[in-house]
Amino acid sequence: MKRATRITTEVPCNLCKRSDADLVGTRDRRGRPLRTVLCRGCGLVFSDPRPKDAVNEAYYRERYRQEYKGFFTPRPLQAYRGVLGALDRVARIEHLLRPDAAVLDVGSGAG
Ligand SMILES: [Zn+2]
Repeated sequence: MKRATRITTEVPCNLCKRSDADLVGTRDRRGRPLRTVLCRGCGLVFSDPRPKDAVNEAYYRERYRQEYKGFFTPRPLQAYRGVLGALDRVARIEHLLRPDAAVLDVGSGAG
C-alpha cells in the first residue's frame, strides 16, 4: 500500500484550522489540475488551494451542468425528481430539528 504524501496546505482546514494534511489527489474527474487533501487533524477532505470565488462562480454559471449532468437546462422530470429527493432528506431529519432551525444542505445537488 502506498503511503500518503504529507503536505502543508496553502489554506488551513475550515474545521480545525490545521495545515498539515495528506495529499489524496492532484486531478479532478476530467483530468484537470486540482489538489485534494485530507486534514490530518479532523479528516475533512477539501481542495487546496481553493479556487477563487470568481472562478467558481463562472464555472457553476457556465459549465457545471453541461459537464456533470450532460445538459444545461434540466428537464421537468429531472427537476421533479430533485424536489422529491429534497423532500425525502427533510423527512429523514425533520424530527431532529428545532422548529426554527436553519439548515444548510451541503452538496445538495438539485437543492
Ligand atoms: Zn481539520
